[in-house]
Amino acid sequence: MEEKINFRFLFIGLLSILLTAVSITMVFHNAFQEQAKEDLQNSAAIIAKSTLFLSDPEQLAEYSNDKLRITLIASDGQVQYESSADEAQMENHLSRPEIQAALQSGSGESLRQSTTLGYDTYYYALRLQDGKVLRVAIEIRNMYSIFEKALPSVILIGFLILLVSVLLSSLLTKRLIKPIEVMAQHMDTMEENTPYKELIPFVRTIKEQQKKKMETAQMRQEFTANVSHELKTPLTSISGYAEMIETGIAKPEDIPVFAEKIHSESQRLLELIGDIMKLSELDEGRKDLFFEQIDLLQVAQETQNRLQLQAQRAEVSVTVEGVPAPVNGNLKLLNELAFNLCDNAIRYNHPGGSVAMRTVCEEGRAMLIVSDNGIGIAPDYQSRVFERFYRVDKSRSKETGGTGLGLAIVKHIAIQHHALLSLNSKPGEGTKITVSFPLFQKAADCQQQ
Ligand code: ADP
Repeated sequence: MEEKINFRFLFIGLLSILLTAVSITMVFHNAFQEQAKEDLQNSAAIIAKSTLFLSDPEQLAEYSNDKLRITLIASDGQVQYESSADEAQMENHLSRPEIQAALQSGSGESLRQSTTLGYDTYYYALRLQDGKVLRVAIEIRNMYSIFEKALPSVILIGFLILLVSVLLSSLLTKRLIKPIEVMAQHMDTMEENTPYKELIPFVRTIKEQQKKKMETAQMRQEFTANVSHELKTPLTSISGYAEMIETGIAKPEDIPVFAEKIHSESQRLLELIGDIMKLSELDEGRKDLFFEQIDLLQVAQETQNRLQLQAQRAEVSVTVEGVPAPVNGNLKLLNELAFNLCDNAIRYNHPGGSVAMRTVCEEGRAMLIVSDNGIGIAPDYQSRVFERFYRVDKSRSKETGGTGLGLAIVKHIAIQHHALLSLNSKPGEGTKITVSFPLFQKAADCQQQ
């Protein structure tokens, strides 16, 4: 950044020097030219007066020098006197614009490019009382010549200014950058110490990112602690039962009971590890997931089949109804989402209860609605059930084989599918969870399906 600012300062400096040099040259060139013309007109007036007293045009030579050229032309255009050449060899001058103008209006002027490079010739002609025309001429420097002459000075001055600019710009840049460096060293009080108001949005973004990072780190830490705790409980049981069998404390008739406990606790462990792995896979936000057109109605039917046995055991009926609802999704993840929702609806239910899975397709959205008439969730807990390891009734969750991760997984899958989740529940009456997906793009109209 410092280098960039420095470079820009220098660039601006150089550009200003160049522009100043060119514009000053132009201004002076014009002023010089005006001055030269005025001088020539004055000289012409004086010489014109003196012609009254001259007996021979050759006497005009007294007034001319190597810079001032004098010509006397008769009214028919014939050159009678020329200070810088032999008038006898000169062509008729009647067609010259300044002569024409002088004959008509009394005076005339013309600026012509000289054969000599870098000079222009300025002609001024006056009509004399006797009808002849007196013409005087000088060479004046043109723009290039002035610039050429001034070039060494311009380069020298430019170089000096450049030197000063280099020094100044590095000083200025340092002063500009310093407060930012100081601010960066004190990240905690960054917002109060922001040196430039333009930096405030930038500082805010950094702070927000910092906050997010800290929150994520904290969440990870909590999750690790929870995972360790959750894994420790079944492992402690397994270890205890195994030890009792090993040391012979367990009576031979108890051994099958202990073995069953070891089996069920290991099963729990496996389920937990499975859920944790699913979550961490989802956390990574895998980009290589295969998405395709999937019908939510088919997903619901498949889920109903998979959970038939559990439903029978819990004496809960599961129904599926609705219209084809196509979404752009990953089949495995959508099956997982529907399974978790329906599994919960069965587990947190009463014998004789029911679960309804419904699909809806309207206004560019495809929805899966899972409702039950089970135990419901009290309002205080409703916002927390999607957190990892959060359970309203821990023992009920464990008894029915819950890991506390089911809804956290549902939430993640919904996010990956740009779907919205909403929960409606009343304790004692039941729960309804709606997952609303954007409709599969090519199926703009639900009815066509
Ligand atoms: P779990 O494995 O404990 O079921 P979930 O993440 O699936 O974990 O759900 C979190 C908690 O939300 C559950 O422990 C339960 O208390 C509550 N819950 C989820 N679904 C329902 C439901 N359909 N009816 C009542 N409570 C529910």
